[in-house]
Amino acid sequence: MEFTRAESFLHDGLLQSLELTKYILKTNGYPREPTPLKKLREVTARHPGKLMSTAPDSGQLIGVLLKLINAKKTIEIGVYTGYSLLLTALSIPYDAMIIAIDPNKETYEIGLPIIQKAGVEHKINFIESQALPVLDILLQNKDNEGSFDFAFVDADKENYLNYHERLLKLVKVGGLIIFDNTLWGGTVAQPEEAVSEDRKESRRSIIEFNNSVSIDQRIEIALAPSGDGLTICRRIR
Ligand code: SAM
Ligand code: CA
Repeated sequence: MEFTRAESFLHDGLLQSLELTKYILKTNGYPREPTPLKKLREVTARHPGKLMSTAPDSGQLIGVLLKLINAKKTIEIGVYTGYSLLLTALSIPYDAMIIAIDPNKETYEIGLPIIQKAGVEHKINFIESQALPVLDILLQNKDNEGSFDFAFVDADKENYLNYHERLLKLVKVGGLIIFDNTLWGGTVAQPEEAVSEDRKESRRSIIEFNNSVSIDQRIEIALAPSGDGLTICRRIR
């Protein structure tokens, strides 16, 4: 598998050694990737936004966490072609569910035939919308408070803190909220002037998010340097 160093930072990881990134994917990521996910990755590779897809090693970590907490009621914000959505659907039980939110239905439909063939579409309630209004509607029903086991956020970085506040009400104590791209290509540790213009705004949002959750007493936290950085938050109060 060939990829440029820039691609490896964006898609396959922040590890400074390209060889180590390849090693992890070759020994673990690709051989243990379920066939439908492999197909979805291959189909996505033909799409111009392919680098937005969740990295297979991050996917593996998310899959293990979903099983560890026996997640049954989940939310995903930011679907794209559905790599993380399909991996969630494959990791949760037959009668479990995912509310999946994305304003772009066209990209969801790229992966949909693979999701259908994998026999997990019945678990998915896809909502074509910006996520904030959907979360607000969910919160209007008190029964939804503390009812979700798991949430994965991989959408507009400017709203990460807004998502965090709402998801902390929707996810139960002991549940997980995972945020992707929290190292933003490594730029969080670089001076702003070294960062390209198109990455600056999201970098600022991610830094603000990282600072805020690092002192948030309502959660336990781990920032895993997998893919582009995964912040794992466990609600404790
Ligand atoms: N998790 C996906 C995967 O594994 O393939 C990748 C998601 S991609 C990085 C980001 C997605 O967030 C895009 O599909 C985009 O349409 C969606 N998005 C952008 N703004 C959004 C918003 N306000 N609410 C929900 N989704 C949004
Ligand atoms: Ca991502």
